[in-house]
Amino acid sequence: MDFAGNTANSKKSGRSTRNKKQFNRVGHNLQFYKIPPTGEISLQEFEEYAIDRLKVLKAVEVAGIRLMKGSNEYTQKLQDELKKTSLGHDLIRIDKKEDKDFRQKDLVSHFILRLAYCRSEELRRWFMQQELELFRFRFLREGSDSRDEFLRENCLNYEPISDDLKTELDAELRAAAGNKSGVVDTIEYFKVPFTEVFDLVSKRKVYLEDGYAYVSRDDMISIVITHYRSHLSHSLAVTTRALPHLEEDGRLLPMLCGLSKRYLGQDFNAKKSNVGEITADMIEMLSKKSFPLCMQQLHQSLRQNHHLRHGGRQQYGLFLKGIGVSLEEAMRFWRTEFCKAMDVDKFDKQYSYNIRHNYGKEGKRTNYTPYSCMKIITTNPPGPGDFHGCPFKHMEVDMLAQKLRGQHISKDNVEKITKCVKTGHYQIACAQYFEATHNIRNPEDSASININHPNGYFLDSYKLLNGPKEGTKPVPNTPKVIKVKVEGTGTPSSQTNKQSDLNDMDDDDLIASMETDM
Ligand code: SF4
Repeated sequence: MDFAGNTANSKKSGRSTRNKKQFNRVGHNLQFYKIPPTGEISLQEFEEYAIDRLKVLKAVEVAGIRLMKGSNEYTQKLQDELKKTSLGHDLIRIDKKEDKDFRQKDLVSHFILRLAYCRSEELRRWFMQQELELFRFRFLREGSDSRDEFLRENCLNYEPISDDLKTELDAELRAAAGNKSGVVDTIEYFKVPFTEVFDLVSKRKVYLEDGYAYVSRDDMISIVITHYRSHLSHSLAVTTRALPHLEEDGRLLPMLCGLSKRYLGQDFNAKKSNVGEITADMIEMLSKKSFPLCMQQLHQSLRQNHHLRHGGRQQYGLFLKGIGVSLEEAMRFWRTEFCKAMDVDKFDKQYSYNIRHNYGKEGKRTNYTPYSCMKIITTNPPGPGDFHGCPFKHMEVDMLAQKLRGQHISKDNVEKITKCVKTGHYQIACAQYFEATHNIRNPEDSASININHPNGYFLDSYKLLNGPKEGTKPVPNTPKVIKVKVEGTGTPSSQTNKQSDLNDMDDDDLIASMETDM
């Protein structure tokens, strides 16, 4: 791909897109990403760069989900999460002064995700949040010379106030700094318009006079972040307007649309099931102990109505496949339940194809993987008569609270869960549900629970209750008690993108989804 927007010309001239990374020079480890890259890159690299940066932003999100930003625990967690990703590992290294490849990858990957995340208000908000936090973290890790150099390069060279003025304002500056003796004497202060440091003003951490704020050198990050925020917000709006031109290139748009709901963890393919085979007879018992709420809801509805509509059959069927239910056992399970309300012939004619299809035995013979939380939350919301989806996202809050109380979850926990739901943190609500139903009280164990996949929830629960099955491979990176995959609440929870949803489906899926639901 040509970042200079000259794809058509390069195609006409027959130039190869490989080995032609002549990007613009990046002079500092940190960037405001003001100038788009102008080199060339292959489509494969385009996707690799995007995924690498997405992993970094997800790591930033995961660290900030349950820990207070700025605390030592948060800093440590963010550092650990970033080190798990190849790009993140490089981004937080400060000894890469002359590493041009790394800087270019930083630049290009940022611009690719800018394209992917400019499509809706919620996507933009998520992208900005993570990018700003990443920038803050990186800025604070730089040495003071490097920070000054960055400020100079970006025309943010504020003059410190004179010693006389500092002495005159001594009492006020001390009060704003929380009376930290000695600090005010040694630190430089800058006089800036108060509109540049809204966050310090809102936290009452700065002295204000005549529309100006007196900001200590330690708090300069607030000014830098304000500038970066305003630049990024404007740039995202500009990118959105340019997006329709990309539609001319049929290769990029589907890839960009898919990025925002891409799941980057384990795919929970049945072949990799870590708990051994699950038979049809075990499902009822497991549903009570180890299924996440979304799958409990589908299971109960199936038992009650002896039927599930297409969306529910897909979500639940693939989940069961992922926990280790074989095709034969799945067929036995669905047939037993459906045939309480219809004859075997009808089941075989109308429903068995779909089950075999999910196991890759029909149609294109694709080995389908279970849906991640992100996919369940962001696509295909349930309509009347449907039971699929995520209850934390799709159920009325009052109904949800009633359901939780019905499961004997304490009043405090119900309040905690519904509070998360109201603020749009559905996966955190699910993690709190996990804690409440598994009696987890240790804060260290709580912090390690991140729910990203219903099958991950099952696996964590199963292992917690039963211990890993002998002879099965443990999943890597298992924290102290719970094993988790990394993907945050991520993206904008209320987004529904039919087009992207269709992009995820192959022809057989589409045909299957058009089946008459009876
Ligand atoms: Fe299911 Fe994920 Fe929602 Fe939990 S957060 S109920 S696992 S979709």
